[in-house]
Amino acid sequence: MNSFKELGLSTPLVDNLTTLEFIKPTPIQAKAIPQLLANPDADFIGLAQTGTGKTAAFGLPLLESIDLDKDYIQVLILAPTRELSQQIAAQLDEFKDYKKGLNTCVVFGGAAISNQIRALKRRVQVLVATPGRLLDLVKRKAVDLGQVRLLVLDEADEMLNMGFKEDIDSILQRTHTESALWLFSATMPPDIQKI
Ligand code: AMP
Repeated sequence: MNSFKELGLSTPLVDNLTTLEFIKPTPIQAKAIPQLLANPDADFIGLAQTGTGKTAAFGLPLLESIDLDKDYIQVLILAPTRELSQQIAAQLDEFKDYKKGLNTCVVFGGAAISNQIRALKRRVQVLVATPGRLLDLVKRKAVDLGQVRLLVLDEADEMLNMGFKEDIDSILQRTHTESALWLFSATMPPDIQKI
């Protein structure tokens, strides 16, 4: 198995991963990371179950692609639940230690929206969200998705099972047609293939 350095990640990130005891990439990381680093603007589909290391598989390449000089949301990650969106944000916050000035924000339903509106007023480059709450925030003009250049759908099949299809379509319509889509799913039913 390759090392993270051999997959093409930058030295400061690899050093940080070593501190976090991420030494050996998992199979999905070994397959996805080189492709996503080489072609961050291309669409990508990853078939992966929970617990396989998929968060780092998309999280590490997306952090490498962030332009710190730009202070708008460049990457949007959608996840089905509050727990998963918080987990993704926590993992990204650990990884991003090597990139000073990079800010993430996480928003989800079932929590006070006013705090989330306040958090979004800061400079945020990576937003993690559940679909329903994100649309609510967009409608309140607390979030502008106009400059998102990468949309990640995590556990896409689970989002459809939970009835988020219309919300996802609506979010896709509000992002640039040229933005890249990285889709991760444990299964590939026809509705996912359509997306
Ligand atoms: P995930 O499938 O992304 O939810 O990851 C499952 C767990 O494995 C998380 O606690 C990660 O922090 C951990 N993990 C993922 N990849 C690695 C790796 N290459 N080395 C060590 N731990 C990892």
